[in-house]
Amino acid sequence: MSSVQAETFEEFLSAEVPDADRPWMERQQLTLYNGASGKAYTGNLVFGAIILALCHDTLTPTLFATILAIASLITITRPAALWQRIGVSTVLGPVSCHAILAGLGWGGLIGGLVARDAIHDVGPLGVIAAGLIMLGAMSFAFVPRAANIFIVLCSSFCVAGFAIGGGVTNYEIAALLAFFGLLSVTVCRFTFANFASRVLRERDLKRSADTVKLLLNDFEQQASDWLWETSATGSLINMTPRAAEAAARPTAELEAMQTIDLFEPGHDRDVLASLFKRREPFRDVVVPLQIHNERRWWSVSGRPALDVDGVFIGYRGAVSDITDAKRAEAQIAHMASYDGLTDLPNRMLFSETLSRALVRRRDDAMVAVLYLDIDNFKAINDMMGHGVGDQVLKAMAGRLETCIGLNDVVSRQGGDEFAVLLSDIASRDEAIVIAERIITAASEPILVDGQQVNSGTSIGIAFAPDDATAAADLIKNADLALYHSKENGRGRHSVFEIGMHEAMQAKRQMEVDLRLAIGRNELELYYQPLINLESGEATGYEALLRWNHPENGLIMPSVFIPVAEESGLIVPLGDWVIRNALMEVRRWPERLSVSVNLSPAQLRSTNLVPTVLNALGAAGIAANRLEFEITESVLMQDTEANLAVLHQLRAVGVHIALDDFGTGYSSLNYLRSFPFDKIKIDRCFVDEVDSRDDSRAIVRAVTGLATTLGMVTTAEGVEREDQLEELRREGCTEVQGYYFSRPLPASFVKERDTDLQAGDGANLSAMPHRPKKPLRHLPAGQPKPL
Ligand code: C2E
Ligand code: CA
Ligand code: CA
Repeated sequence: MSSVQAETFEEFLSAEVPDADRPWMERQQLTLYNGASGKAYTGNLVFGAIILALCHDTLTPTLFATILAIASLITITRPAALWQRIGVSTVLGPVSCHAILAGLGWGGLIGGLVARDAIHDVGPLGVIAAGLIMLGAMSFAFVPRAANIFIVLCSSFCVAGFAIGGGVTNYEIAALLAFFGLLSVTVCRFTFANFASRVLRERDLKRSADTVKLLLNDFEQQASDWLWETSATGSLINMTPRAAEAAARPTAELEAMQTIDLFEPGHDRDVLASLFKRREPFRDVVVPLQIHNERRWWSVSGRPALDVDGVFIGYRGAVSDITDAKRAEAQIAHMASYDGLTDLPNRMLFSETLSRALVRRRDDAMVAVLYLDIDNFKAINDMMGHGVGDQVLKAMAGRLETCIGLNDVVSRQGGDEFAVLLSDIASRDEAIVIAERIITAASEPILVDGQQVNSGTSIGIAFAPDDATAAADLIKNADLALYHSKENGRGRHSVFEIGMHEAMQAKRQMEVDLRLAIGRNELELYYQPLINLESGEATGYEALLRWNHPENGLIMPSVFIPVAEESGLIVPLGDWVIRNALMEVRRWPERLSVSVNLSPAQLRSTNLVPTVLNALGAAGIAANRLEFEITESVLMQDTEANLAVLHQLRAVGVHIALDDFGTGYSSLNYLRSFPFDKIKIDRCFVDEVDSRDDSRAIVRAVTGLATTLGMVTTAEGVEREDQLEELRREGCTEVQGYYFSRPLPASFVKERDTDLQAGDGANLSAMPHRPKKPLRHLPAGQPKPL
């Protein structure tokens, strides 16, 4: 932006208007000149009349006509347009022409009158001359060149006239007029410089004001923000259409209300109101308001505006609608505290709520935490897909909510685990009643996409203040009680007892000891024969693991295998079993095989097949003398991968038996999922096969199916002759149980070649195992049965 800028007075006077601004400046000059000279017109006439009056006694018609002609000419030639019409083209030319005419006219007239001695009293004429110079200087001031021309011409003629007139008074007047003329030139220069700098500054100011206005308009159009303004009394003023649109009210209505009344009453509005009251500047004060019956949030910034005298004239500021950001924020906060799938409070929020409930608990009341998980959830997820799993979780969440009171809280803790908080109960029974209600509700089949899913839940319960007073401890104890529930069969509830901690502690100790057991040679395999029903002879032995604990004595697999499975120790332990069982088989006649139990975790380990091949190679044993027993749980988890491993094993000749058949999740399907060599019917059916019709029917169905599919059926846990006879009738091919032999250390295997050292060749002669009629009693010298 250009402007005349000057520091000192001299600089100020000599400052030039920049070239680029000249045409614009000239237009301004012309406008002002037109205005000023119009007013000077009256002055011309007055001066003309006074001159006529002064020379009335010597006035001749010629002189009168001359004075009139001069005054008229000066008046007529005043408008610039006239000069343009007669061909003077430059913009300022007409003004200079008018200045020449006026200077010549007035100067010539006064100078002529004095020189020709036409006026007796020259004093007033001197004053008139000075007045005319001043009047001209004033009306031409905005066009310095014209002003100079007029002053120089007018004063020169006047001075000359007075000088020619002669006499002391005339000389004095001539000198004074010369001085007055010079002074007027200087004053004109100063006036113009002042004018030029002012108009240029004003123009720059206007330009920047326009730019700011443009920018503000742009800002209003583009941004989500808009501007607001209040009067000193706090009512909205100058509302833009955009702001009115955002507030969803007509501008007139907005401007009739107090700013603060736009917002919803409450704490945020009170904050804003007190800022207004104290006339403080503020930034991003977030206040809610209702727009179209919807709650929205505005972020308001503003500062008090003062006039030039420092008097408060209202607020000026900006507003932005931050409803979306506010909602996103609320969503994030919700996500941090609630579970995305079930929309139940998550673990974190549950702990916080529980902590608060514990603090608020009345002395005579109890707080209970119910910790639960969904039975068979992993199997449902694996077999029916995660989509079904998610639906089951949602359904379970819904059922849990229907089982509890208004002040109780259900939360999803993660996976298939839920927790319930009963924050005010009078007795333990109240919690137990709710637990039973939950178990009943959870056991109802769930319908997902037309499929029926059967599930249930197990629950652990802990009470405050009896079991713990801190939230984390209470949850931990309820979880321990849940663990206890599940160990004792699913679909039940357990109340926390202090002994559960000890049991957990003992389990941890067992894990530590078990880790060392292999290296310390504390593990031993016992063997139990599998008897062919027709021949009454052993076809092989099942290897069953025992742990000779240095302090606790003999530990049964049902105690330590679950610990090994949970800790992952089952993999090295299982490898040890495979290698040792195969080394033992070397001592047996070739017709005998060994059956080894496999845990699901072993199948999942990538090492299983190499380990088996190595062990077979190291023992020099044909693969078909090894049989693996797996349970249905193997087929419930990671089915595809597990089936692939089973196929690989079967491809090298290893036999695969389905163990504990009938106790799993949905048994008959599994028989079709893999070509098993053998099905072992679980002891629970064998137990009552001689007394219960349904048990007998199941055994019959399984043997029938197995025969059709070309599988061997082994009945487990045969203890009585009656059972044996019944099984024989139902078409079982093989039996195993205490009736024949308990599991015994390797040295008690009848067919064992006692001379053969481990690592020798395995060419054993066949030895008869048993008499045709199975023995009822254990041979003399056998250890205490296990
Ligand atoms: P399982 O595979 O079903 O083994 C048969 C269990 O039934 C054995 O218990 C055996 O002693 C018992 N049993 C056999 N005949 C009778 C009978 O007539 N009456 C009664 N009441 N019981 C009988 P054990 O040896 O305590 O093994 C328990 C379970 O531990 C086994 O069940 C098997 O699942 C697991 N197990 C044993 N050794 C191993 C192993 O080396 N690896 C793996 N992964 N699991 C093993
Ligand atoms: Ca078994
Ligand atoms: Ca079994």
